[in-house]
Amino acid sequence: MTRAWNFSAGPAALPEAVLRRAQQDMLDWNGSGASVMELSHRGKRFMALAAEAEASLRRLLSVPEGYKVLFLQGGATQHFAQIPMNLAGPGDHADYIVTGHWGEKAVREASPYIDARIAATSVADDYLKLPPRDTWKLSPGAAYVHYTPNETIHGVEFRDIPDVGDVPLVADLSSSILSEPLDVSRFGLIYAGAQKNIGPSGLVVMIVRDDLLARAGRPMAKIFRYAEHAANDSMLNTPNTWGWYLAGLTFAWLEAQGGLVAMGETNARKATVLYETIDGSNGFYRSPVEVSARSRMNVPFTLHDAALDAVFLAESEAAGFLALKGHKAVGGMRASLYNAVSLDAVNELVKFMRDFAARHG
Ligand code: PMP
Repeated sequence: MTRAWNFSAGPAALPEAVLRRAQQDMLDWNGSGASVMELSHRGKRFMALAAEAEASLRRLLSVPEGYKVLFLQGGATQHFAQIPMNLAGPGDHADYIVTGHWGEKAVREASPYIDARIAATSVADDYLKLPPRDTWKLSPGAAYVHYTPNETIHGVEFRDIPDVGDVPLVADLSSSILSEPLDVSRFGLIYAGAQKNIGPSGLVVMIVRDDLLARAGRPMAKIFRYAEHAANDSMLNTPNTWGWYLAGLTFAWLEAQGGLVAMGETNARKATVLYETIDGSNGFYRSPVEVSARSRMNVPFTLHDAALDAVFLAESEAAGFLALKGHKAVGGMRASLYNAVSLDAVNELVKFMRDFAARHG
């Protein structure tokens, strides 16, 4: 068996130790005589797993008192719509900072439920830069400010948490959660689809400040109401037990790696190695993103001659590298460097890139 060097943007590489453990547990989890997927979420064994996964996540992110941790479904996309339903009432407005594809989508999905105002956007710069904080036109009385700390497709990332005063800050952290320490107390709500840094798709992890749970001011089914999910420990209905289990294994793995300080250092190193290779290639490779906005997690890059794209992809795949094709909205290549992508994997990639450039330059 050979495992590829996997640079997929998501669903993405998981830690090999997590997959091996899941494989080992598949038929008989925890002495139960059944797979974790075959057991009631209300059973003692699963309840203990669920509580430990939450505790582990709280330790990793040092989640302060006064925040609920929820294990939800629907993908980040569903929560683009559900967040305004829960954090605002009829007639309210919210500010959106749009720095790429996912921010655009967040506005689109929110719009039936709230007056979603674009307070800043870098669309005129093709999303290759971030709009400076002093240009944001935040509106008085906004229910919240929503932004995307890391844009997975465009490869732009905020390196600081923006100051928006007392208005709750809401962040779609789908592609950068757990990649480095995070000051959760700066946020009203953060959420992330699991399929990049946490586990399989179909699970959404949300951390929300208690006082915001009381806001949902319009009639809606219980299943849409975060307060109901919180009151029922994310077991209002059957949760994604498999996702929750794998997330728990990933959290434990992260703790064993030294937590988010250690992950942050490794992730910074990985990104530096790749960007230095791109910038040092005498124009053979190019990163279109402004240096200060470059993402540590998703690195789009182009080849000096687009006619070589197909050759690069074919050769890289033959050499054991997976999923380097860029998103169609941006073109070229993209390497995603989530937690489970090791420094070794990145070193192998840059070796391949240098060799490719030498042969085709
Ligand atoms: N937000 C971001 C930043 C993403 O990267 C993605 C998925 N790539 C989404 C939202 C959408 O997630 P989902 O497909 O789970 O709804």
